[in-house]
Amino acid sequence: MTNFTENQINIFNLTPTPFYYYNMGLLDLTLQILKKEAEKYGFEVHYALKANANVPIIQKIREYGFGADCVSGNEVTRAVEAGFEGSKIVFAGVGKSDEEIITGLKHDIHSFNCESIQELDVIDQLAGKMGKTAPVALRLNPNVSANTHKYITTGLEENKFGINQWELETIVEKLKTLKNIKLIGLHFHIGSQITDLNAFKSLCIKINEFQLWFKQKRIPILNLNVGGGLGIDYHEPDLHSIVDFGSFFRVFHDFLDVYPGQTVHFELGRAVVAQSGSLISKVLYIKNGVNTDFMILDAGMTELIRPALYQAFHKIENLSNKDGKLQRYDVVGPICESSDCFGKALNLPITKRGDLIAIRSTGAYGEVMSSNYNLREKVKAYYFDKL
Ligand SMILES: *Cc1c(COP(=O)(O)O)cnc(C)c1O
Repeated sequence: MTNFTENQINIFNLTPTPFYYYNMGLLDLTLQILKKEAEKYGFEVHYALKANANVPIIQKIREYGFGADCVSGNEVTRAVEAGFEGSKIVFAGVGKSDEEIITGLKHDIHSFNCESIQELDVIDQLAGKMGKTAPVALRLNPNVSANTHKYITTGLEENKFGINQWELETIVEKLKTLKNIKLIGLHFHIGSQITDLNAFKSLCIKINEFQLWFKQKRIPILNLNVGGGLGIDYHEPDLHSIVDFGSFFRVFHDFLDVYPGQTVHFELGRAVVAQSGSLISKVLYIKNGVNTDFMILDAGMTELIRPALYQAFHKIENLSNKDGKLQRYDVVGPICESSDCFGKALNLPITKRGDLIAIRSTGAYGEVMSSNYNLREKVKAYYFDKL
């Protein structure tokens, strides 16, 4: 089973590999549904550029009216260049440099999602020098477990992200002294590839508690930014090519206390773009191993590091031999690292040198994380309009 047409596979066969393939029709459909579901509740969605910052992709996302969530100065610049208005850009990150903060201030972004006391000081000073008032949302650490891989958990006290609850009193006192900062909201982000919606329910309950605390102090909070993290189905990309955004938003509608005048913001990355991308590669060699054979691809961890970095699963398909007899393979790349492995002991149709292999669901955190290790060249991206 694959969603690639014979026609596409013929084109792939004529194209130098490896390369990234993007299904822009699927991206369109995903964005239509995302927009419809978010509008039901008046939720604002900012697309997390770090998942995939390719210009054709972010331009399409912008055309649907979504905002941008950036985690570096260069992402802010890229978003502006792609046509996102400053007022629709939010900027997070534990280590914003002075230059990056200045970039944000220059473009009058919607908010700096601030992660420490010291950062507040620096933003205040830089904004003062530019004669501006910086809009700031406090990124609070809700100490909520996301039940996801430990490397993509961000909302626990032991993580480096956000401001912890016990620091809030100090922060609020501090804010009174900072003249060039305006507190516009609260921000949260508990992790990524979260498939258990209960984690988001726990987040809502935690946010409600924080909100009460601010209410008692009579500090108005205009914006609640609940972050992103919605996970996708890496095992069945064709059955579940579009995430159930409806159920995700409903959790927040049902459990988050939204006060009159407040706007709720989301920062989705993976769920928007992951299923639209595949890494297309060719088999260089088949090598006999002890327990399994090795299928050695011309793509490696330099093109897709998720399996090596987070033990991530990606569905692997042989596009040249779709339903032959099965054999067991370790699917590996050519890079000189043992972690350069896309999947171990996989049952795949008997494969030969030159077969086309699709590594699915790589539209998010795939191409953006590619590197030149081993002096590898950056691969090309192709955008197909057909669904
Ligand atoms: C990475 C990130 C996101 C997007 O996460 P996804 O899991 O891709 O939805 C949102 N907000 C912040 C602050 C992030 O760092």
